[in-house]
Amino acid sequence: MKKEKALSALLPKGITRRDFMKTMAVISAAAGTTGLLQSCGSSSSSASADVIYRNGKIITIDPLESIAQAVAVKDGRILRVGTNSDVNTLAGPSTKVIDLQGKTVVPGFVDAHTHPMETAMMIDSWVDCRYPGTPSVVQALKNIQLWIKNRAVPKGEWVFAVGVSASQNKYIEKRLPTKAELDTAAPDNPIAFANGAHMAVVNSVAISALGITRGMTKLPHGGAVQLDENGDPTGVLTDAMSDIPSTPKLADLQRYYTKIIQETWNQHGFTSLMAITPSASLPVLQAVSKRVKPTIRYNVSVWTSSNGAEMPEDVSAFAMPKEADPQWYEFVGIKVWVDGENDARTGWMYEPYIGSFPTDPPGNRGSLVTTQSESNRFAMIGGRAGVMPMLHVAGDAAMDIGLNALDELIKSGQRKNLIRLEHYGVFQMMPSQLQRAKDMKRHGLCISVQPTWMLELVKANYENMGAPRTETGFLFRTMIDAGLEPAAGTDVTGVYLENLNPFLGIYASVTRDSDNGVFLPKEAVTATEALKMWTIWPARSLGKDSVIGSIEQGKYADMVVLSEDVLTIDPKKLKEVQVLKTIVGGNVVYEAK
Ligand SMILES: [Zn+2]
Repeated sequence: MKKEKALSALLPKGITRRDFMKTMAVISAAAGTTGLLQSCGSSSSSASADVIYRNGKIITIDPLESIAQAVAVKDGRILRVGTNSDVNTLAGPSTKVIDLQGKTVVPGFVDAHTHPMETAMMIDSWVDCRYPGTPSVVQALKNIQLWIKNRAVPKGEWVFAVGVSASQNKYIEKRLPTKAELDTAAPDNPIAFANGAHMAVVNSVAISALGITRGMTKLPHGGAVQLDENGDPTGVLTDAMSDIPSTPKLADLQRYYTKIIQETWNQHGFTSLMAITPSASLPVLQAVSKRVKPTIRYNVSVWTSSNGAEMPEDVSAFAMPKEADPQWYEFVGIKVWVDGENDARTGWMYEPYIGSFPTDPPGNRGSLVTTQSESNRFAMIGGRAGVMPMLHVAGDAAMDIGLNALDELIKSGQRKNLIRLEHYGVFQMMPSQLQRAKDMKRHGLCISVQPTWMLELVKANYENMGAPRTETGFLFRTMIDAGLEPAAGTDVTGVYLENLNPFLGIYASVTRDSDNGVFLPKEAVTATEALKMWTIWPARSLGKDSVIGSIEQGKYADMVVLSEDVLTIDPKKLKEVQVLKTIVGGNVVYEAK
């Protein structure tokens, strides 16, 4: 891989600088207690604003949780936040003034963990077999047949179908489509039916296209092949995403990065995201970054195939090119899967899953994709490069592997940036793991969580893990009380597109509603805390809380205008809140029709 430039020049700010900025933010807010609202720096006060948004209820999410009326914007940044009259003094002859008509405004949402390329690809070019739109295996097979027929897919071309993870729990038949059924639905095309992101069923044409032979259990990029008692492949593959040739065409990729992704996320109030990107599509994003000013701020982390073995020791080639504006594009992390996901019965646990499914290996404890020593190596690569190592850990045994790997990095003294664990405590969290995470927080540990999954996976968790383990998951109150600042992410891969709506996650966190009724109500958080989970805490988990995540002077003017006041609305109605306008760098980039 060619080196573009020294990585150090493009790194996110180091911890010291970050802490300094954080302190400055607190000082500037404290100085404003009498007038939050006065401009702290006199240098900018002579210049008039480009835009003033006034007459709103502005939930700033600053350290004092201040509520303001108006915001002045200049050069894409917030010039002042305060009362209408404070901010009006910044109006000049060319200032555009926008009346918010009493509407509620919150900071632009920050998606701490998501997969935009895959999402754009699925929206654009995968057969939709997602429950509940597709309620059964029978319907899924019909969708596949129709797709091939209607699009006249040429013989031999790959077809991809997507079902929700845990489709085996959701479909009426309580199982996945089989290889034989996929052979009938797609006799002339290799097809992969994705059961979420960690498991796929493929047909016979795909098995030969992938070069899978009798007795073979591993694919070249780390995916696992399930065999029947005779040693023949059953069609089930786990964590084989990088073995299946699903990379889209160049023109498609360009369209995703210049159009589909930003439109899709802006529509839901997102102004920044952590784009977990396959290395294969990174060059396209790097090329786009040289010439396109987007309407979403891309924080890029590059994921490697399953066991991390393909992550190079030197990751400097992943940096964004020098022509790219780091305000919009920045390479910030590398990501690896330690295990699968508990909903697909592949999260790596200390004790076996309960019940049994045809896709389970004997005594199924899930799949350990990346071992302790491989995880340690991975963490060290990120640490040395000064980018965040991000380890996907779903099951309790995987969580300890992630903690151990990051602990090694801390002890080595080579950590230069934040460190992250993905999905931490979403499925399970033992008291010792809460304590370890709390201890490691001061060494830069951030955790990303997916609150929206409460509405989809609690029932499956009870079925897969039983009550004692299930009831250690989604403990947001406990996490916040421990000072953990859980950073919410949609983790959208295209499978659960509705999860792009942050209000579903806010609703679930506040009401504790789930797909299995009210779940652990004492773990409820306040509406303000739920907003922090989607704004300042994910900003912090990207190392960007000095510029995004709250509406404060000097930060980028990224804001969302809402249909309701989220602080006073009946919590049951939180999931109905609409995004009316999304503002990025002071400009309206999305407006509801
Ligand atoms: Zn993910």
